[in-house]
Amino acid sequence: MLAMNYRGPYRVRADHKPDPVIEHPGDAIVRVTRSCICGSDLHLYHGMVPDTRVGHTFGHEFIGIVEEVGAQVETLKVGDRVLVPFNVFCGSCFFCQKELYGNCHNTNAMSTAVGAIYGYSHTAGGYDGGQAEYVRVPMADVGPVVIPDDIVDDDAVLLTDALPTGYQAAEMGDIKEGDTVVVFGAGPVGIFAAKSAWLFGAGRVIVVDEVDYRLEFVKHYAQCEVVNFKDVRDMALHIKKMTDWLGADVCIDAVGGDAAGSVAQTVTGRLMKMQAGAATVLHWCINSVRKGGNVSIVGVYGPTFNAVPIGNALNKGITMRMNQASVKRHLPRLIEHIRAGHIDPKQIITHRVPLEEVADAYHIFSSKLDNCIKTILIPPR
Ligand code: NAD
Ligand code: ZN
Repeated sequence: MLAMNYRGPYRVRADHKPDPVIEHPGDAIVRVTRSCICGSDLHLYHGMVPDTRVGHTFGHEFIGIVEEVGAQVETLKVGDRVLVPFNVFCGSCFFCQKELYGNCHNTNAMSTAVGAIYGYSHTAGGYDGGQAEYVRVPMADVGPVVIPDDIVDDDAVLLTDALPTGYQAAEMGDIKEGDTVVVFGAGPVGIFAAKSAWLFGAGRVIVVDEVDYRLEFVKHYAQCEVVNFKDVRDMALHIKKMTDWLGADVCIDAVGGDAAGSVAQTVTGRLMKMQAGAATVLHWCINSVRKGGNVSIVGVYGPTFNAVPIGNALNKGITMRMNQASVKRHLPRLIEHIRAGHIDPKQIITHRVPLEEVADAYHIFSSKLDNCIKTILIPPR
């Protein structure tokens, strides 16, 4: 089959590799009809995630048609149109029983923190991902969801990660009626976090990024205020000025850290490019939230980031919540929001690219070229 193939940092290509096969009677093979490139894939692409092996196929956001099921699979049948949450999870361990599917204890022997994730290196279990024609889906009775007939493919594929993650970011912010919510990052996750903040009762939503076309999009899509951080000398001061000097009730980190270099702001307000190790957005969240406020983190941090101003966080009594999203927990409610017209996920899709052109697709998404927000990869058929 044709599949995205990792060759090393900034080097990916479409290549042929053997079709996946049923390895366990609980597996299914899914023929992928759509997959996305996620901001999380950029951490892999930039070489930030340990144990990302040459030959690995990325892709944790995908939907498709069930092609084959193992002997033990009971709930899926060949021909079902399914969305597959990005978490690989067992459904029965201590954490899965608490609906903490992102923390499944059984699917990722490499970590006691995070469960497995499709196509996310051997650090996250080593499962090949869905930027391919076919993918093996383990524990197929647990993760995949048959897509309701009235949910179109473009919405369904965004239900595998970006939308539930943005939604969980807002949920973890514990937003109260009328709260001012600042979302850092206007990528797909931040866009959906901003949109979701209103669903949780926000009274005001402000989105911060440096990419003008993304800010322009989110301003209309989520009807929020926007700030380009390149125009701001001191982020915390700026947010305080916007909030009667209190600070935001809730700050959401939808950026994370990336060894490719992030922008940091020094105490003097000067913007500077850092190589790694400066968790800029965490600083901005902690310093921009009001005392007693909430910081919600869904941005992913690699091991090079550990300079967290934890003293400030403690002194301000901030509630910090963070996790990988438990996608499946949110699906019934999100499907109702889509049906009710509260949210139209597919509007964020800017690019549809044949899987053969995966190298260009990564370059365009990573470099924020051509007004790219969300890219769908279409396998050959
Ligand atoms: P993306 O790369 O498309 O978007 C990130 C945005 O952040 C970009 O628009 C970038 O310009 C902006 N940015 C960079 N530095 C900034 C700063 N200092 N302040 C404000 N904005 C800044 O990525 P995405 O797909 O939207 O994902 C966002 C983050 O969420 C990534 O770290 C990704 O790994 C993570 N993620 C987490 C989960 C989870 O379950 N926790 C799931 C999906 C994605
Ligand atoms: Zn993702």
